Amino acid sequence: MSQNTRKTVSPEYTETDKLTDVNLRPAFLRDFIGQPSIKEQVAIFIGAAKARGEALDHVLLSGPPGLGKTTLAHIFANELGVGLHLTSGPVLERTGDLASMLTNLNEKDVLFIDEIHRINRVVEEYLYSAMEDFEIDLMIGEGPTARSVKINLNRFTLIGATTRTGLLTSPFRSRFGVELRLDYYSTKELSSIVKRSSGILGVEITDEGAREMTSRARGTPRIANRLLKRVRDYAQMKSDGRITETVVRDALSMLEIDSRGLDNLDRAILTAIIEKFGGGPVGIDTISAAVSEDKDTIENVYEPFLIREGLVEKTPRGRKATKLAYRHLGLSLSEGQPKLL
Ligand code: ADP
Repeated sequence: MSQNTRKTVSPEYTETDKLTDVNLRPAFLRDFIGQPSIKEQVAIFIGAAKARGEALDHVLLSGPPGLGKTTLAHIFANELGVGLHLTSGPVLERTGDLASMLTNLNEKDVLFIDEIHRINRVVEEYLYSAMEDFEIDLMIGEGPTARSVKINLNRFTLIGATTRTGLLTSPFRSRFGVELRLDYYSTKELSSIVKRSSGILGVEITDEGAREMTSRARGTPRIANRLLKRVRDYAQMKSDGRITETVVRDALSMLEIDSRGLDNLDRAILTAIIEKFGGGPVGIDTISAAVSEDKDTIENVYEPFLIREGLVEKTPRGRKATKLAYRHLGLSLSEGQPKLL
């Protein structure tokens, strides 16, 4: 199937999200729903930093996409009453890009670097002295007259976000004073998020409608909000605008999102493992080629959910489809066996 025609509810960030996020993203800790232990820690760190009048320690946020890492960075800055500067690992190509961001930071400001595991090694090492001693070396001039000068920076807080902490080098990781790991949300927590969002969007949703929607939202607030927007359109066009359980069912079946919240690409991955590779084990590169999807996207976005749902198993020799995966796709184990030529 071509990538253009495939319908997915990938938790990756899109341009449309960017527009609606402005309204739906909670700005203060009191509006951040779920993740109680993270909330408690964040409240303590913020309270203590404020009481001491100091910049907060550097923070590393990890967890799959769409769980609230960027939201927390906004919350840190808002609660501390400081400026927030946003960038991402792949954008910081040269040390000069980073230097200009760092020298623009005011005292105690937050610098948020998304996808920090994708920062290149030279830029990463340049960041070390900024994080530790709040100083950097700047090259002034060019050619034989070029010289390096030390610049003192204002004390700032670096908040790094990564989908996988394992991809960070240990010297880099050790420079963060605080590490917070976001986990998938429960259906109940997602229902509260969806109700809050529907209040902001001015759309009526029943308790059953919210439950049905969030049970298919892959434990991810970004997907829950995205489903809400799509179901809202459906409710407007096909019924009286109210989001009920039936409306959710009909809308999600139109969007080809199944009872477990799997979309076309999830099913394509499972079907490929079962039908093309006898149920596995099969390597991630092969799966990526079989479904024509980027390997990193499969590894960072799709696979964690399929593993968490117990549909895929990770073994030293590759990925295997579980019995549950066969059952979910309505296949018998023998149907998945490779055909003998
Ligand atoms: P990440 O940076 O981890 O990819 P975001 O912080 O961009 O995820 O979160 C995606 C969207 O989900 C946000 O715009 C916000 O609307 C919503 N969201 C995330 N976490 C929460 C939460 N705990 N409570 C309410 N809404 C949330």
